Amino acid sequence: MGEMEKEYVAQAFKTNWVAPLGPNVDAFEKQLAEFVGCTGTVSLSSGSAALHLALILADVQQGDVVLCQSFTFAASAFPIQYCHATPVFIDSEPDTWNLDPALLEIAIKEQSSLGRKPKAIIAVHLYGMPAKMNQILAIANNYDIPVIEDAAEALGSTYFGKACGSFGKMGVLSFNGNKIITTSGGGAFTSNDAALVKKVRFLSAQAKEPAPYYLHKETGYNYRMSNVCAGIGRGQMEVLPQRVAKRREIFEFYRDELSDINGISFPKEPEGCFSNRWLTTLILDENVLGAGVNEKIRLHLEKLNIESRPLWKPLHQQPVFADCTHYGNGVSDSLYATGLCLPSGSNTSHENLNKVVTEIVNCLS
Ligand SMILES: *Cc1c(COP(=O)(O)O)cnc(C)c1O
Repeated sequence: MGEMEKEYVAQAFKTNWVAPLGPNVDAFEKQLAEFVGCTGTVSLSSGSAALHLALILADVQQGDVVLCQSFTFAASAFPIQYCHATPVFIDSEPDTWNLDPALLEIAIKEQSSLGRKPKAIIAVHLYGMPAKMNQILAIANNYDIPVIEDAAEALGSTYFGKACGSFGKMGVLSFNGNKIITTSGGGAFTSNDAALVKKVRFLSAQAKEPAPYYLHKETGYNYRMSNVCAGIGRGQMEVLPQRVAKRREIFEFYRDELSDINGISFPKEPEGCFSNRWLTTLILDENVLGAGVNEKIRLHLEKLNIESRPLWKPLHQQPVFADCTHYGNGVSDSLYATGLCLPSGSNTSHENLNKVVTEIVNCLS
């Protein structure tokens, strides 16, 4: 937490705005819209809720196909299942580790020829690295399929100077506890389409029609963010630029200390990409360092009470999505097999960063 979160939360209590709406919610939404550079945002109970509503707005229904990046956290695709629709997974390209535009087009063509033209495309900016949005949007527009931008991990990242979360027809942010800023739990919907923003506001507050009694013509959802949580969000927005700077500093420290080791490499920022470096990830070449070296390091660190983690297990490898079609190229499988996430919390001390580096070096020597 920064300095101001408690103050905004206290204001919520002082004014008795302990409700799903209120002044903190309004202020937080305004800050978000300004930061992301979109005309409208709706703060919600989670990023998953935002994705669910985005799919509903894309008219995703039972049996429809939704294309989704395979290399991501499962929450990118679960909302497809909430709609009883069918996820079809697309592999990554090696530069950004995100949606491969070439495979995306193949999948659109093939699914369409089978009579299952995709209803939506979920593109993710994984670990804060922007996806190749120019190419993805060009293809999506060509086939007239809406892009839902999962920017849950990418608040503070930009692509050719424009903020992640502002590219898709609809965007999704998350303020879950593990993200670069948090409201303890929460998310947001972003869009430049005022009608979509209005509709999300309506559906997320139980779809109450404007009538003096309780009138409902559509299924509603209780997905709004509380005015207490939005108070935390307001304070967090004030420190977001510092958090991005800190995460990038942590990444640069690890890279500078470790990239001299033969077989270790760090993801570069391709042209136009500015990553918030939400988590520092690295790739360990098994041909140089031996098979299973990432797991060897993880276990070594674990013994010293240092937590590191494998990269996201691709969704086409997950039992819950075992029946889903996958357009693969081996990139996400290889990243998963050889990658590792290092401790990257914004408050990690220099001493602890040094310790992680020392122990990785010890483990490899
Ligand atoms: C965290 C996350 C989500 C879901 O956000 P919640 O707020 O936890 O529901 C979706 N996609 C990605 C890539 C995430 O990392």
